[in-house]
Amino acid sequence: MTQEPERVKCLIIGSGPAGYTAAIYAARADLKPVMYQGLQPGGQLTITTEVENYPGYPKGTMGPEMMEDFKAQAERFGTDIRFGYATAVDFSAAPHKVIVDETHTIIADSVIIATGASAKWLGLESEQRLNGFGVSACAVCDGFFFRGQDVAIVGAGDTAAEEATYLAKLCKKVYMIVRRDEMRASKAMQHRVENTANIEVLFNHETKEILGDKTVHGVKVFNTKTNADRVLEVSGFFVAIGHEPNTKIFKDWIDTDETGYIKTIPGSTKTNVEGVFAAGDVADHVYRQAVTAAGTGCMAAIDAERYLAAKGIH
Ligand code: NDP
Repeated sequence: MTQEPERVKCLIIGSGPAGYTAAIYAARADLKPVMYQGLQPGGQLTITTEVENYPGYPKGTMGPEMMEDFKAQAERFGTDIRFGYATAVDFSAAPHKVIVDETHTIIADSVIIATGASAKWLGLESEQRLNGFGVSACAVCDGFFFRGQDVAIVGAGDTAAEEATYLAKLCKKVYMIVRRDEMRASKAMQHRVENTANIEVLFNHETKEILGDKTVHGVKVFNTKTNADRVLEVSGFFVAIGHEPNTKIFKDWIDTDETGYIKTIPGSTKTNVEGVFAAGDVADHVYRQAVTAAGTGCMAAIDAERYLAAKGIH
């Protein structure tokens, strides 16, 4: 059923650390933010287990619990948090139009895009089943849990090369599974991989299955040249085959780089469209951490507040 358009001063799209932090700041600044949580309320942290590197949690915490805390804090200051998915936008003129769930029209004086990025996965059943139990798409987040152990990483770009060398410092042995006979990573990164004694690169190999019932205890790979199978006895499996920023619906209006990440004006969260701001992984393919996302979420709320004040919107 189509409803009447709703006027909102500050609309936040997405509910990861960036979205919730923007909400906390916007609510405390009396912008009466409305948040649509998107398809995965809480974002990528809800599919991880333990988080040990977020400041303020000296004993660590669980990703899903941490996002519940973020949500409670945003609600405490009056954020209107709703289930719903932005399906289309029209940023041709301020105030901006956002359609939610194809039916509900929001007219927003300011918009904060915090839709994040999604890790690409191989698409194996075992990968999905063991996600968070030995399977991870973030070495910086989860590598620490595998210190002193053997792990495998799939991918051959800069991320995979960087994460393999990061893991090599913590782990006993790192197998790098590369599907072609060469890597896509920059030469400098390839040299770092080659010069790391405990990384073994398996060229022309693909992953068949991740082995384990409740946790990972191995990976079955096969050589695409010889068709020979091999089992790698590892307790961690890292997927580093790229991320996809969730920017599809914004592309007609918002400037992105060639891989789809939103371009912001350096030192701010401003996009090329006045009144539209971007925070978190949707505009960051470099750091991709919860704490950096939260930091830019805070910036976006402050940028939105100043924009609205300058426009005289109270
Ligand atoms: P990329 O898209 O560059 O690389 C993805 C890699 O994953 C490719 O090697 C690709 O293989 C492989 N891959 C994709 N699908 C599969 C699959 N199904 N099975 C096995 N392997 C697969 O992503 P990155 O995240 O590495 O990098 C993204 C961007 O960020 C790049 O521009 C990169 O340069 C940049 N970056 C820069 C860094 C730096 O400068 N320090 C650090 C990290 C990222 P194939 O090569 O065969 O296609």
